[in-house]
This record gives sequence, C-alpha cells and structure tokens, in this order.
Amino acid sequence: MSEEVNHKVFLEEAYREALKSLAIDEVPVGAVVVLDGKVVGRGHNRRIVDCNAVHHAEIVAIQDACRNLRRWRLDGAVMYITNEPCLMCAGAVIHSRINKVYFASLNEKMGAVISNYRVFDQKSPYRVEYGYIPDGRAEKLLKEYFSKKREKKKVEKGSVNSVCGGGGSDRPLPVQKNTVSGQGEEGQG
Ligand SMILES: [Zn+2]
Repeated sequence: MSEEVNHKVFLEEAYREALKSLAIDEVPVGAVVVLDGKVVGRGHNRRIVDCNAVHHAEIVAIQDACRNLRRWRLDGAVMYITNEPCLMCAGAVIHSRINKVYFASLNEKMGAVISNYRVFDQKSPYRVEYGYIPDGRAEKLLKEYFSKKREKKKVEKGSVNSVCGGGGSDRPLPVQKNTVSGQGEEGQG
C-alpha cells in the first residue's frame, strides 16, 4: 500500500472509533495505533463512561496496543487520530515511543502539536514526526457534537456534564458500593 492509501485507510479506522464515542454521547474522537501495516491498538474517548479524566482516545489506544503487544514500547508505531492531540496525549505518544502521528482535524483549544503548543517540535531524545491531514468528516463530527451540546444546554440550562454517569441530566447519581465481587464494573475496550 502506498503511504497515501495507508493514511486514508487508517484515518477511516480512527473515524470509526470516533463514532463509538458519539454513540455513547462522549466527545467524538478516535485513534488507532498501527504497526507494520496493521492496527494493533484502538481507542475512543470514554472519559464519562469510565469516569476517568485521562481516558482520551489516544491513551485508550496506547493502552490497548501495549496490552496486545505485551510491551510498553511502541517503537516503529504510527498513530492516527481524528483530532489533534492535547498536551497529555502528545506526552503519552512520546513516552510510548510512537514514531509518527497523523491527525485529521485541529484542536484549537487544547491542541499541542500545532494549535497551542508545538510539543513535537521541541528538543527531545525521542523524535515524533507528525502530519495534519485535513478530513472534513472528522471536523464536522466534532462541530456537530458541540453545537448539539450547546443547544441542549440552552434548553436544560445548567447541565452537569462533568458528573460521571450523569450525561447532562439531573438524574440522581447511581450509588456505588465498594464491596464484594468486583465484577462487571470496568470493561474498557
Ligand atoms: Zn488528549
């Protein structure tokens, strides 16, 4: 496969991951880790469902790749993401030794590669190449998500989106018991 075809195929895979976030009403961002032309890790943003601030798509994809490959170093791997990574995720890319990152839309508020910081341009013992490959669909997905949220907020006024399990409604929080069994709780991707 030519590099261009690769980009198309794997950005499509990342886009499919983003749709999974959308389906669970999370900010739609998806990522895949590719090694030797194969997807070895997948992730989509799941901060709310996992009640975990660091569960951005990229982190989840890196965790999945490390689990699948049974190693923490992802040398030679390429990450495809539907949106420009934030500072935390750009850092995670460096720490996992991923070599290349491609993303399909810009993250004006939190982007750490081009938009706000230029993390991969800094002097570092671990070089990460990057490329912005604009894809209207990835951008549209996010824009539509946020405009719907804004509309909903206007209607509800004062939603509690940061409450885990709340999903923006005024539903009471589920009571969590820290006892016995411990099964059936986690299950992230
Ligand atoms: Zn992030």
